[in-house]
Amino acid sequence: MSHERVLVAGFQHETNTFAPTRATYESFVRGEAFPAMVRGAHLASLREMNLPAGGFMREAERAGYTLLPVIWAGASPSAHVTEDAYERIAGEIVAACRVHRADGIYLDLHGAMVAGHLDDGEGELLERIRAVVGPDVPVVASLDLHANITQRMLNHADALVAYRTYPHVDMARTGARAAHLLTRLFNGGRHLHRVAKRLPFLIPINGMCTLLEPALGVYRRLAALEQDGIVSVSFAPGFPAADFPECGPVVWGYADDPDALSAAVDALCEAIVEQESAWEVPFLMPDEAVREAMRLSAAADRPVVIADTQDNPGAGGDSNTMEMVRALLRNGAQRAAVGLIWDAAAAAQAHRAGVGARIEVALGGTSGVPGDSPLSGSFEVVAVSAGRCRLDGPMMHGMEVDLGRVACLRIDGVLIAVSSVKSQMLDRNLYRVAGIEPEAMGILVNKSSVHFRADFEPVAHAVLVAQAPGPMIADPADLPWTRLPRGLRLRPMGPAFEGRAQDQSDCIR
Ligand SMILES: [Zn+2]
Repeated sequence: MSHERVLVAGFQHETNTFAPTRATYESFVRGEAFPAMVRGAHLASLREMNLPAGGFMREAERAGYTLLPVIWAGASPSAHVTEDAYERIAGEIVAACRVHRADGIYLDLHGAMVAGHLDDGEGELLERIRAVVGPDVPVVASLDLHANITQRMLNHADALVAYRTYPHVDMARTGARAAHLLTRLFNGGRHLHRVAKRLPFLIPINGMCTLLEPALGVYRRLAALEQDGIVSVSFAPGFPAADFPECGPVVWGYADDPDALSAAVDALCEAIVEQESAWEVPFLMPDEAVREAMRLSAAADRPVVIADTQDNPGAGGDSNTMEMVRALLRNGAQRAAVGLIWDAAAAAQAHRAGVGARIEVALGGTSGVPGDSPLSGSFEVVAVSAGRCRLDGPMMHGMEVDLGRVACLRIDGVLIAVSSVKSQMLDRNLYRVAGIEPEAMGILVNKSSVHFRADFEPVAHAVLVAQAPGPMIADPADLPWTRLPRGLRLRPMGPAFEGRAQDQSDCIR
């Protein structure tokens, strides 16, 4: 048995620099869509969850390591992490590295964190940790598939490994992969070669879904590359809503044999680039999406699901833009449900009025996005609940969530699930908590981009992607970029960024 002491810490944030609301220290304390912040021995509560830290801890214990759990902190995607939140959490992790003098460090990171005072949250953290532990202590991190990989991250970690699924059903498995990499590094493989290559175009997040081509085939190919001394290959298509010079897709890997590794990374990059047009996404305008859903659902016995992708709270949206509801009403859709609309005031009003009452509400519409405004009208209160439920879908199976007061409001043929806490519609139970049986509906409009597919596709007749007003611009070419490297294409087959990059010195070549 091994006896190494391994420090464990998690700090996850996906930063949409164009989004309306920042992540404060309080956001991390609550965790929002993540578990609440935990410290020390309480990290054991994450062990059985589909989270990288959970998978890592299980695998590391199996390998006989003594774990030194420090802190796990995540907050829902949003605009920048405040300097206060960043310095408090990063400071705690770095201080623990100094105190514990561990034999190895594991970090559960997202890899797209931009703080108020710095661009590269993870690169900065890894560099500070390296400065404390020195060159001889292996540092590994697991990353989200939506990580924006920077040169500093690569330089200061011994190994970085990313999820291979979107919806992210392999978070715990990725943590286990990080544990295997750490074992490899402990066993004398500290001098692994690294190759990283940046791709020439941004990919819309809807195009990254690994249930569909081309991502499905690319990740299959990636897994097959890990043989003959190639220890690890990752592809992070990135998070294309962070305005800084290292935003975008990167392929990287680690191996004993540098030539074999270069060949593998090149082959995967080629496989991605040669089918550039396949990464484009067919978006429907709201009325088109609703009419198509009505047409399809007329002959279907299962719901047609429309992704309201631009208001996805998993990518910085506030989950309360109202254009898709308006489109359903304009087109007279029946047996339709929308979820979740984040509006604590409306939920409270519904609770006060009680089931069966009619209430006058100006619902949602507080995003400040052009084209969005509250939907004023008379709504029937169909159901209310305390908002606590357990998720049963493949992604967050077993996780308990607390949405605060929840209500189901009806207007014409549309049921609206209203929550007091912002949460992405990635599990069917998030409708049930509002008294809506999703399988019984003709049309579901989900505030999600891709994650909902894991639990909804098995019961859906079809899935459509709508482009209604919202803070998470689905087509990255539509964003007001200022700091990308010149020449980077803003979407597959799209226009190149022409503005002057402020800092190209850090870019991976
Ligand atoms: Zn992600």
